[in-house]
Amino acid sequence: MKTFLVTGGAGFIGSHLCEKLLYKGHKVICMDNFITGSENNIAELKNNPNFKFILHDVSNYIAIDEDIDCVMHFASIASPKNYSKYPIKTLKAGALGTYNCLGLAKEKNADFVLASTSEVYGDPEIHPQKENYWGHVNPVGPRGCYDESKRFAESIVTAYHNTHNINTKIIRIFNTYGPKMHKSDGRVIPNFINQALFNKPLTVYGNGLQTRSFCYIDDLINGIIKLINYKETTIVNLGNPNEINILELTEQILKITNSKSKIRYLELPKDEPKRRRPDITKAKKIINFKPKIALYEGLQKTIKWFEINK
Ligand code: NAD
Ligand code: UDP
Repeated sequence: MKTFLVTGGAGFIGSHLCEKLLYKGHKVICMDNFITGSENNIAELKNNPNFKFILHDVSNYIAIDEDIDCVMHFASIASPKNYSKYPIKTLKAGALGTYNCLGLAKEKNADFVLASTSEVYGDPEIHPQKENYWGHVNPVGPRGCYDESKRFAESIVTAYHNTHNINTKIIRIFNTYGPKMHKSDGRVIPNFINQALFNKPLTVYGNGLQTRSFCYIDDLINGIIKLINYKETTIVNLGNPNEINILELTEQILKITNSKSKIRYLELPKDEPKRRRPDITKAKKIINFKPKIALYEGLQKTIKWFEINK
């Protein structure tokens, strides 16, 4: 049994991660300030004696009495809508939050895992994106606060590994979806599902031909767990390489929900990545990562959850 600190543990990915770690028999300390997460996401976990919740903003110094084996830093404002609204808080969670979490890992002699993002590649000029691509990011554009906070985070994680020999993993997560996503955080899958369930127009940005590659949450969590058990310090893409455009996504959601919604075309936000697909050769090689859940099946599960939680 190990003890994990999961920051951002009341969010979408963080709450699934806490649940899986508890299921595997570990102790979990979940830290969140609920800026985009919710108490509902962790309501059931609170009954588990191995689960503890700490209300705290990771941008401030973190003091914990217990021994910790692994610090997993997942706290961040993660959707374009929310990081445009809170650019300074986003930068602080990625920069100061990562620094504070690394200081804690050093003090506790713990391993460290960073939830980084495909956004470090920006609007990529290389396709699909491999870990050795340096990216194409506008630091002062609307996505700069998020992208640069994660790029700084990757850099300081690397510095702590090199200087203090902490075992670190940097996970570049590509678009992940599933139950417990916040219905109004503005990301495309919750937006379209909600719009379809209420027969409102689906808001497609631009011409809808831009692409993303969507990974179901269970596949991502399985990859993260395998990576925790992997001994070496590493940096790796995790996601599902099945690439589709946004219009194709509307078709699948309309079909599953049997909705009468029409499409409403809106302006494409500035600096949007036009294409995104992870090259997961490295993850396959080091942890035998193979996403199993096809988009249609994952959408069916997600829509079922959104219907119940409407
Ligand atoms: P989310 O918004 O559901 O979860 C983030 C959690 O972090 C929330 O519970 C929020 O309240 C918490 N948080 C934010 N700032 C905080 C702070 N200063 N102190 C304490 N808690 C704070 O988003 P998510 O999709 O679950 O994202 C989780 C992590 O994965 C993030 O680091 C995000 O950047 C990364 N990521 C997610 C995706 C994706 O597709 N979902 C893709 C790439 C990277
Ligand atoms: N998108 C859209 N309509 C929406 C929300 C998003 O067409 O209501 C598009 C957006 O332009 C982008 C893709 O869906 O191309 C994914 O957007 P999201 O905000 O989920 O994440 P991103 O990958 O851009 O960070």
